Amino acid sequence: MSAHIRPDLDAIPAYIAGRSLPGVVKLASNETTFPPLPSVAKAIAEAAEQANRYPDIHVSELRAAIAEFHDVAIEQVAVGCGSVALCQEIVQITCGQPTDEVLFAWRSFEAYPIVTQVAGARAVQVPLNSEYAHDLDALAAAVTPNTRVVFVCNPNNPTGTAHRRADIERFLDVVPDTVLVVLDEAYYEYLRFPADEHPNGVELGRGRPNVLVLRTFSKAYGLAGLRVGYGIGDPAVITALMKVRVPFSVNRIAQAAAIASLEARHELLERTDAVVAERDRMRDALVAAGYRVAASQANFLWLPLGERSAEYGAASAEAGVLVRPYGTDGVRVTAGDSHENDLYLRFATDPATVERFLN
Ligand code: PMP
Repeated sequence: MSAHIRPDLDAIPAYIAGRSLPGVVKLASNETTFPPLPSVAKAIAEAAEQANRYPDIHVSELRAAIAEFHDVAIEQVAVGCGSVALCQEIVQITCGQPTDEVLFAWRSFEAYPIVTQVAGARAVQVPLNSEYAHDLDALAAAVTPNTRVVFVCNPNNPTGTAHRRADIERFLDVVPDTVLVVLDEAYYEYLRFPADEHPNGVELGRGRPNVLVLRTFSKAYGLAGLRVGYGIGDPAVITALMKVRVPFSVNRIAQAAAIASLEARHELLERTDAVVAERDRMRDALVAAGYRVAASQANFLWLPLGERSAEYGAASAEAGVLVRPYGTDGVRVTAGDSHENDLYLRFATDPATVERFLN
């Protein structure tokens, strides 16, 4: 007889990561293709020499560096084993009853329904609007007395769409302050709105204790393999997050690499300009070929190919490029190096591909 496992877990989908195949270009996960900077690689190597020692359980040095970067108090900073761990911890600190609701747009980051169901709470999904963006009015209208958390993914994964500052501000104004609003800004560094419309959650959250902002070192900072992300919010929320986390889950190497990356942030963030230029170049080429492509403020593009998504993903893989199909909704393509993107565009804009998938 096998051990008893919670039967409700059968209904929970496993997290599906972008596939990797040796020798095949991978535009299926939203990583950066740039390797760590030499200064970061050095910090990683030095930290590895002390791998026999537990890391700092309070992540003090990294939290202090993040606090300084954002001009907040260290008590307002939580660090997690990737920001996905913080997503899980957020549901753990807010939900304890089966009637507790976690609200989010759909499609959005696939971890939201998983962490909700694992915690035994109820997921409430509000469809994206016709432009594949969050319908913030519908999201606000879906708040009930049972709502404990709202995840707002800005820019949204997997569609890349983003809301400007005034839209987010209006949303925060109408959500009751007993509901924790999580502004998941994993792709923040790829936003290119005019300065006065820039939706910086950390600024919007000042004076709003029910706002928690998530950022990550996995994307623009290029540390996806080391798993480190952070949240900025009210000290009471941060204290609760630190109670539920797995002790020592932000390892020594991740802490050292994140500190070195913050020190080298100007160089790292400059790299995002090249990614944004590639994203826009790819979008222009796809639109010219006849594709519908959501407006993207992230490092990826969304092609709403509906029923043909899986078949498109398979055809692209056959042409040597892995992209990421999502059920019968669409396909996400990450902006990689220019030669990788060229290989993808060669497949995508080939008249035979266009004929097969767009007509
Ligand atoms: N939020 C969003 C919207 C994401 O797309 C991701 C990564 N796929 C994460 C959070 C988690 O990133 P990480 O755990 O690597 O910090």
